[in-house]
Amino acid sequence: MGTVYLVGAGPGAPDLITLRGARLLAKADIVFHDALVHPETLALAERAEKVLVGKRCGRHSTAQRFINKRLVDAAKRHRVVVRLKGGDPMLFGRAQEEISALDAAGVPVEVVPGVTAALAASADVGVSLTQRGVSRSVVFVTPRVGAGEERRHDWAAAIAAADTAVVYMGAQEAPLISATLIARGLAPTLPVVAVENASLRTMRYRAFTLAELPRLAECGYTGPVALLLGDVFAAACAAGVALPQAVSA
Ligand code: SAH
Repeated sequence: MGTVYLVGAGPGAPDLITLRGARLLAKADIVFHDALVHPETLALAERAEKVLVGKRCGRHSTAQRFINKRLVDAAKRHRVVVRLKGGDPMLFGRAQEEISALDAAGVPVEVVPGVTAALAASADVGVSLTQRGVSRSVVFVTPRVGAGEERRHDWAAAIAAADTAVVYMGAQEAPLISATLIARGLAPTLPVVAVENASLRTMRYRAFTLAELPRLAECGYTGPVALLLGDVFAAACAAGVALPQAVSA
């Protein structure tokens, strides 16, 4: 019986995977990966069979239960099975469902963390998510509700309670986010920065106020977008659409 490693690929740039993750890819017999994983990252898995099981919002997705089953089956045939996920595997990546399925089948699992999108986005914008006297708390949140999910979650309350918020899978929901948070009493002038393709050469970002956020649709972003909200971004917003160069691939 092999081991399944849930490995964080990092936010996009191929050199933002951990050394541990890269070494496991080099040893992997088979790699199940998401659609957003960079080709150069996949190339680290020189000898592995590569299987795309990616889910991208709104596109065809392989059912989660089928992915779970394939991981269990692969562990019966291979020694090193890597499940490669964008960013960090334990954030908005359905890792728990895979871990539970593997546990139930008696397959050993190990998790290798990765740099999550929020951290890459804050690095690209050059603004610290925590700041003395301004922000002592950061929340990672999504308004997205998965198909068949029942439990209601008050994502807006989570944002209202934190000094800084990073919204995942929220770009399509920009008008809803703006209206919901303003209705909750957040300032219409609250700074928001939308970062597309964080850590990649194609990274772009744009600053808005919360009231202006519905105009995000005009940017034509097609890559993954993280929304950063909070007073720590006030200076970035005052500076407007500044576009520094991303450092690497
Ligand atoms: N596990 C991943 C998140 C998966 S959910 C992580 O830890 O980063 C997918 C969402 O992550 C996207 O909708 C987007 O909000 C965000 N995201 C992923 N990669 C990104 C990138 N390079 N730039 C900006 N946002 C990104």
